[in-house]
Formats: sequence, structure tokens, C-alpha cells
Amino acid sequence: MPTSSQRNGATESPGAMSRPVPPPGLPGEQENTRTADLLNLVIPSSMLLTVLLLVGSFIGDNTPTTPKVIGIGWLGLLTVGWWMVRKGAVHRVSIVLTVLLFLVITAVNLSLGTIRAPITALYVSWVILTGMFFHRSGIFIATAASSVSIGGLILAENAGLLPIPDTSVGVTQWVNYTGLFMLTASLVYHGNRLTEKALAQANGEIEKRKQTEIELNKLTRAVDQSPASILITDLDGNIEYVNPRFTAVTGYTLEEVVGKNPRFLQSGQMSEQVYQDLWRSLAAGNEWRGELVNRKKDGTLHQESMVISAIKNSDGMEIHYLAVREDITERKQAEEALRVSEARHRMLADNARDVIWTMAPDGRITYISPSIEQVRGFTAEEAMQQTIEEIHPPSSQAVSLGYFTRLIADLAAGRAPQSFRGELEYLCKDGSTIWTEVMAHPILSQGQLVEILGVTRDISEHKRLVLELQQAKEAAEQANAALQHANTELAKIATTDALTGIWNRRHFLEMANTLKLQATRYGHSLSLLLLDIDHFKSINDRHGHPIGDQVLIELSRRLQPAVRATDVLARWGGEEFVLLSPGCGAHEAVRLAEKLRALVADRPFAGVGGVTISLGAAELQPNEPIESLFKRVDIALYEAKAAGRNTVRAG
Ligand code: GH3
Ligand code: MG
Ligand code: MG
Repeated sequence: MPTSSQRNGATESPGAMSRPVPPPGLPGEQENTRTADLLNLVIPSSMLLTVLLLVGSFIGDNTPTTPKVIGIGWLGLLTVGWWMVRKGAVHRVSIVLTVLLFLVITAVNLSLGTIRAPITALYVSWVILTGMFFHRSGIFIATAASSVSIGGLILAENAGLLPIPDTSVGVTQWVNYTGLFMLTASLVYHGNRLTEKALAQANGEIEKRKQTEIELNKLTRAVDQSPASILITDLDGNIEYVNPRFTAVTGYTLEEVVGKNPRFLQSGQMSEQVYQDLWRSLAAGNEWRGELVNRKKDGTLHQESMVISAIKNSDGMEIHYLAVREDITERKQAEEALRVSEARHRMLADNARDVIWTMAPDGRITYISPSIEQVRGFTAEEAMQQTIEEIHPPSSQAVSLGYFTRLIADLAAGRAPQSFRGELEYLCKDGSTIWTEVMAHPILSQGQLVEILGVTRDISEHKRLVLELQQAKEAAEQANAALQHANTELAKIATTDALTGIWNRRHFLEMANTLKLQATRYGHSLSLLLLDIDHFKSINDRHGHPIGDQVLIELSRRLQPAVRATDVLARWGGEEFVLLSPGCGAHEAVRLAEKLRALVADRPFAGVGGVTISLGAAELQPNEPIESLFKRVDIALYEAKAAGRNTVRAG
């Protein structure tokens, strides 16, 4: 911290910047002015008084001639004195007039012949006047002179040397007294006025000095608290003051650097030319601005930006140098880091396969990576000049504008703006279009949109692959469906009879085994029916094989609805059919066979007329092999045939 004396030294410089206190005039000038003021009062007053006295003495008629002559001579001297005051001979006139006035008063007293005359009292005014002109010494001298003069006059009067006085009170005395009062009062009044004036002037000056001090305090505080380092030197460059910021930055305290040349701060990294320029500018009366690399107390280097200029006094003379320094090391490092970062990003963007672009808030494209040419055929320069109509087909224009409209609305409403991700179609130089995936991200700084950063990726190949994949998938699905259908068909073919659509022999045999197992496990009954068309051979012979087929189909259609859902009806082969009926005992089996027989016999078949069937029916016996059941039913059918056909027999 600066000491008070150093602080005072430092405050001279800001003082020079603020309004300087008006300097006191040359020594004696004020005194001269005061004397001139006094003479300007005294001479006209004396002239007036003398004129009055002369008029009085002439009117009074008993005044001797000598005082009148002295009065006229005095009047002349006053006139000359006033003229000389006007010419500037103030001091000389004051001396001469004072001496002459004394002589005139004494001479008049002598000529009037009495010391009691009011003229004697003029000594009072004269002493006051002399005191005003020449201060205490004037008062002493004038008092002594008056005393000697009065003493002499008394002695002369007592010795009868003075003329006999005219004791009558005349006009002259009356005028004289009146003039005396006025003159004395004027002198005292003027003295007071001069004192008041001097006091007022002194007060004014004190006030001005106070104001100046407040200004200085303010500026001193500002310098102390300044975020910039401030260094003040004398004209030889020796440090007189540094502010606390200087200490904070360099590590040097005020006490350590006072009286030193700032040379010790030099890093040795600057060329001598820089310092020569600096001193040349200062010598030419200019300020110097520049950047210097300096060394701190701990030896580390730092970069400073500074302005050095001269501080002048009120006469315009240079009295100090002021250096205002800003530590810009961090700023420079940040700038360098930013430059490296920008170079890196530029390198990435310039070499990316995707198109990278930036857009200003007003919609201007500020950068497009060179890859745009591979994607659209336009160079980056060409693309940057394009309008939205030249960039996108209408549908993508609408998508793009929609995003920007939303972005602007979000920003205006203070909402966080959203990024854009979507597919946009671009127009190419060769007239074609390509599909791209676009990612646009708004970059904000302190809530303000500064840039939109975008990446555009050509996805036309991707789209083509997706389309091909889609087509391949659909084709596969179709093939799959066909296969499934074929499988179903195959399964149907494998289990059903091609002519009648009912189960075939293979499936029937599988079912027979399953139903037998179930019947055995749960103790259910299971019956088998075997039926054969009577004289089918002759139907074929009479109506042809296709009609025979129709009879087989019609027979199946009649039988199928007549059996239970759990029953299994199948074509056994040729014109023979079998029916397995779970839960059906021997009697019910015969009844069922009779029902089926009637279903065929009761209604003629189209194109052939009446058709009959014969049936054998039997119930599976416990532990009976299925082949045995088949054999029994076959025998029963044989018996039915033998019994004349259109008959049912139980096995
Ligand atoms: P029955 O049984 O009353 O003793 O006399 P049938 O004439 O029916 O005798 P058989 O069983 O010997 O004749 C069966 C005939 O059925 C022989 C054959 O031509 C005919 N047939 C077999 N399968 C088919 C077929 O799928 N379609 C046609 N139309 N005829 C068939
Ligand atoms: Mg047969
Ligand atoms: Mg037959």
C-alpha cells in the first residue's frame, strides 16, 4: 500500500487530469490591487473634501490666504496622483501622497494658527489611511509623526508663534467636521470591505481545494481498485507509484519498486526496437500503445497490453509518465486454444464424408464442407450462394422452413430450442435429387442464437438398400405363404382322399390306433363300420366311370353330416368306406349303420337312380387287436352282401 507521502506524490497526476486550482498571482500583485483600490477611494474623496474646504473657506471669509493656496495646490497634487495611479504607479503614489498629505495637514494647521481647528483632527484620518497603506509600520510612523506635529504646534502656540485663531465657529469648520466624519467612516468602511473580500476569496479557495481533494480521493480510489496495473514514474523513468493490481499481477510490492527503473520487469524477449519506439513516442509527446512480454517476480513470463503516456501539469509541462497495463496472458492463451480448436474442427469438417455446414441466425450459410460437391455436384462456394428453392424440392423446403419457424418461436418465447433430425431431399446439379439425413443443432451463447451447426448425410444408397431389403422381405413372405399353402395342401393330400375330400385310409389307420388307445385307457366303447356300394361295377358299366365317381362323391356328402364330429369317416379304397365311432357300443353301431344305409337307399342319386350300400358293424372288444376288429367287420359285411345286399350285419 502506498504511504501517505507517496500517495500525495501519486495524486499529482490525477490532479493534472482534473480542473487545476487557479494559481495565486505574482507576489505583491494582490497588495498592489488593494493599494490601487484604496487610492481610488482616497483620491476622489480627498479631492471632494478639499473642494468643500476651499468652498467653505471662500464663503467663510475669515480664512487666511495660505490655507486656501495650500488647498488649491493639494487639489492639483491629487489630480496628478490620480493620473499616475491610472498609469500604474500605485506604490509610488501611495508613498508620495501619504507624505504630502501629512505636510499639507501640518502646513494648514500652521497657517490657521491653531491646533484645535478641525483640520488637526485630519491627523486621525491620515493615520488610518497610512495604516491601511503601510500596515503596522505605517500606523507607528504616522502616529509618531502626528504626535510630533501636534506637540510642535502646541509648543508653537504656547510660544505665541502661531497666528491668533479665529474662535468663531464658521462654515469652514462645519464643512471640515462633516468631511472628516465622512472620510474617516469611508476609510474604516473600506477597510472592512477589503477584509470581507479577502475572507470571501479565501473561503472560495478553501472550497475549491476541498472539491479538488474529493476529486483526488475518488481518482485515487479508482486507481487503487483498478483492474488494470498502473505504474507512474518520474521523467527519468523511476517508479513513483504502482497500484495494488500491479502487485497482484507481478508479485512486486510498492516498497520494492519505488525509485527503480521498470527495466527490471523486462523479460529479455522483446527486441530493443520496441523500447526505442516507446521512448521515441513519449519524447515526441505522444502516447505509446503496445504489447510487451514481461517477467514477474517469480520468474514466470506474462504478456501485457499497455498504454504509456505523459502526465502534464497545469502549465502543460510533462511531470510524470503513466503506464496502464493489462495482463493479457490468459486471453492470449485462450485465443491460441481457440485457434487450435478451430483449425482442428476445420480439418475434420473439410475432410468429412458427410456435409458439415454452419448457418448464421439470419439464414446465411457461413460454411459448407467441400464434400458437398460429391453429394450434390455443386462446389461449396456455389452452394453457399443458393436460395432455399435452389436447395430443396418443395416438400423438403416446407420441412426445413417449418423447423426454422419453430426455432424462432422457441427463442422468442424463451424456450430451449430443439435440434432437428430428419430426412430432406436435395436438388443436385445434374437435375436429379438425393435423399439425406440432416441433423441441425442450434448453438447458443448467453441465451442468444449465434449459429446453427448442421450435418447432412447422403442416404440415397441407404434408402436404395432399404427398399431392396423391403422388396426381398415381401418376396420372402410371399414365398413363405406359398410354402405354407403347399404344406397345408400336402398335409391335406396326405390325410384326405382326393376324390371325395374325406379322410383317406392312411389317416384313418393313424386315427384308429389313437382312438383305440383312448378307448382302452378311459374304458370307452369304440365301434367300426365297413360299408360297400352294392353292384357298383354295374353302375360304372352302365353310366361310365365319371358318373361312378360322382356317386362316390355324393355318397360322402350324405354320410359326412350324418356322423358325429368325433367320428372318423374315411374312404377305405374303391367303393368301400369305414367309420370309427368312439363312445358307440355294438347296438348303437348297428343303429348307426342302419341310419346310414337308409340315408343312401331312401333317396336316388343324380344320373343313376337308386343306390344301396351294405354295412358290417362291430364294437371293439377289450384287449382286442384292431386287426381282429377289422376282420370281424369285414366278415359282417360279407354276410350282409350274402343276405341280399342293402343290409346291415353286426360282427
Ligand atoms: P358287390 O359289391 O355288390 O358284390 O358288387 P360289385 O360290382 O360292387 O363288386 P366289386 O366290388 O367286385 O366291384 C367293384 C367295382 O368298383 C370295380 C371297379 O371298377 C369299381 N371301382 C373301384 N374303384 C372305383 C372308382 O374309384 N371309381 C369308379 N367309377 N369305379 C370304381
Ligand atoms: Mg367292393
Ligand atoms: Mg361293391
